[in-house]
Amino acid sequence: MRDANCIFCRIANGAIPSATIYEDETFRVILDMGPANPGHALILPKEHFADVTALDEMVAAKALPLGAKIGAAMKEALGCDGFNLVQNNGEAAGQTVFHFHMHVIPRYAADPAMVSWTPGSYAEGEMDAVAEKLRAALQ
Ligand code: 5GP
Ligand code: ZN
Repeated sequence: MRDANCIFCRIANGAIPSATIYEDETFRVILDMGPANPGHALILPKEHFADVTALDEMVAAKALPLGAKIGAAMKEALGCDGFNLVQNNGEAAGQTVFHFHMHVIPRYAADPAMVSWTPGSYAEGEMDAVAEKLRAALQ
């Protein structure tokens, strides 16, 4: 399904021009207009999926290898020391465009941490209770 009201459907299918760095029958990979570092790319499926929970299995299976390929190309072409694959799902998680996309971000040794948190702790028994809730949801 391609949604004419979705900006990433329009970009992925060529209706809006973009700085495309890679394209195949399933994906278009473009440069993000607000890059964390120059070369920051977005892997966009040509079909519309709101987020990872809606993703077609075939598209999902191709997305991670493509992220690896783009990241390897960044190391070669840009000389970055590493790269982040970042994928946000839901507003609370930082998703602002509700068409599945994966960020590929070139990273350099001196860069600040991109995804960081302060490690918390569990109260007595809390970890087991949380694990049990998740196991139940996964059955
Ligand atoms: P999210 O926060 O949803 O994971 O990421 C959305 C990303 O899309 C942001 O990094 C934002 O800069 C980028 N973006 C939003 N609209 C456009 C656009 O029209 N063109 C390009 N190239 N990037 C966009
Ligand atoms: Zn879309």
